[in-house]
Amino acid sequence: MRRFQISSRCECQAILSATLDENRHVLAGWAARPGVKDLAPAHSINAHLERFDVGWLCPFCNRNTLRTFYAGALRSIPETASGTAPSKSDGSAPGA
Ligand SMILES: [Zn+2]
Repeated sequence: MRRFQISSRCECQAILSATLDENRHVLAGWAARPGVKDLAPAHSINAHLERFDVGWLCPFCNRNTLRTFYAGALRSIPETASGTAPSKSDGSAPGA
């Protein structure tokens, strides 16, 4: 499944981020300030449109921050955790 990551800056200067699934629904949202990272409830609005909105509830300033995103500009997250890590065998075990 393709996933996307978006981020924007809140009025309080916290960085709001969210992970979206391929239907642009929010899987997880969080907010970060230098040295602090906290969960931020987020949801997408009109996710089926090319230009859709994502709203965060910022845990730092309690604003409901709405940002517009363009679907064609979303960055997909590379699937690094898909089990393709090289299995290491250094041959130190006694021969079987
Ligand atoms: Zn904020």
